[in-house]
Amino acid sequence: MFLESAGQSGRDESSMLSICFVTSECTPFVKTGGLADVSEALPKAMARSGHRVKVFLPLYKQIDRTKHRLQPLPSLGQKTVTLAGRLEPFAVWMRKEPRLPLEFYFIDCPRYFHRDSIYTNDSDEDERFLLFQKATLRTLEGLRWAPDIFHCNDWQTALIPVFLKETYSEIPLFSRSATLLTIHNIGYKGSFSPETIAKAGLPMDRYFPGGPFEFFQTFSFLKAGIVYADVLSTVSPTYALEIQTPEYGSGLDGVLRTRAKDLFGILNGIDTRTWNPRTDPFIPFHYSARRLQNKARNKAVLIERTQPSFDCTLPTIGLVSRLAYQKGVDLLETVLPAFVDKPVQWIFLGTGEERYEAFLRQAAERYPHRVHTCIGFNNELAHLITAGCDLFLMPSRYEPCGLNQMYSLNYGTVPVVRKTGGLADTVIDIDENPDRGNGFAFVRFSPEALIDKLHYALRIFVEEPARWRQIMLRGMSEDFSWDRSARQYVELYQRAVSKKQASQVLQTQN
Ligand code: ADP
Repeated sequence: MFLESAGQSGRDESSMLSICFVTSECTPFVKTGGLADVSEALPKAMARSGHRVKVFLPLYKQIDRTKHRLQPLPSLGQKTVTLAGRLEPFAVWMRKEPRLPLEFYFIDCPRYFHRDSIYTNDSDEDERFLLFQKATLRTLEGLRWAPDIFHCNDWQTALIPVFLKETYSEIPLFSRSATLLTIHNIGYKGSFSPETIAKAGLPMDRYFPGGPFEFFQTFSFLKAGIVYADVLSTVSPTYALEIQTPEYGSGLDGVLRTRAKDLFGILNGIDTRTWNPRTDPFIPFHYSARRLQNKARNKAVLIERTQPSFDCTLPTIGLVSRLAYQKGVDLLETVLPAFVDKPVQWIFLGTGEERYEAFLRQAAERYPHRVHTCIGFNNELAHLITAGCDLFLMPSRYEPCGLNQMYSLNYGTVPVVRKTGGLADTVIDIDENPDRGNGFAFVRFSPEALIDKLHYALRIFVEEPARWRQIMLRGMSEDFSWDRSARQYVELYQRAVSKKQASQVLQTQN
């Protein structure tokens, strides 16, 4: 299941791949979650190794064309795609990354992408991402550029493998292009009414109970992509196994089991230039394993900037999160009251569902001497919390990969996590593995399990400082750089390309 790191073939030009990376969000242009970070870091790591990469994303209203120096691509002319039975025009903008074989392409269609948020519940959400995917393929046709591999991400791009097989099969340009679909979060399936199949111009006869286009009487982009892509991946080895079970599979576990031999888990890397305590531009005092005293100085600044009445000598637990059901923040409704009389402080930063925002706000009002809450998206504060706290909390119900636990490990801020998905692959529980433990992981999703784990962690923090320091240092020495993950993706791309070649040989023989 898990690809062991394989040697990459150096700079031999013939082994370099051409890659089309298709995504619905990408830093620094537009971001709602971890996918945006992956979409910048992975293509850059690929390009640094010499692979030729084109990244495609929608030109949302939120993307600042001037700031990012995007250029229109008039050479392509005004293009159209057929969508819902009519011709829909679009334009293309691009930006070339200096000194790297990396280009970003932006599909410009104001009718669909000038909305107040990048994802919507609008009735034409299906059309928005149909347009994006069709326009991506049309643009490549215009450029006469066929990649060795299309790397698609989540439901918004999952129909590309379907279009290639159903719509483009007669067109030689893409006949050798293989497809990889990465599932970043199985909770989002892109399910629409079966009428969307006709809007997409795809064959209706693929829609029947249990068929490739049918998902509980809907048309799910993600399910179709899972059936059609040459190779599948997700963002951690444990999540790759979990999504094949009814508990975590979100209804897609059955179809994923049928593709088990093509499904791989590769951990995301982290951006070690911005998320590095030695160089972090957002923290006042840089530190490393050898200069740990500066971590305490960051703690003092964090407390001064958030809740000056907090006590710098007390253990402080941080949380930085999207406030969604997935993240398990509701456990705190029972957990917090169990700790308010104890010498421990909490600093929360998050934004998301109203019920969780309200709960965290109220907790701070009720226990101001113990709890501080900041509602909003604040990158600078996220860095300071990661550097200044002693413990970092991630009680997720499920977590495909998770980035914050990797940041906190590298910052010597010991994570307390639920043992699931990428958290299980990165945080080694000190009790389970005393020689390698770098944090604390509880198994059962329950307030009691988290309370027990926190009591245990706080006891070590207070009573065994030497052991605590050892746990911190282990986390700080972990390598979560993108280079490791990128090597595994190259291996996966090559696997997809070989599979595609083998299927072509079979086709010509028949
Ligand atoms: P997900 O993609 O499920 O939200 P990840 O852990 O993979 O979770 O990535 C979340 C990213 O967003 C991290 O870089 C994290 O620091 C950042 N983040 C989440 N919430 C906030 C917030 N309120 N303020 C600043 N950064 C945040």
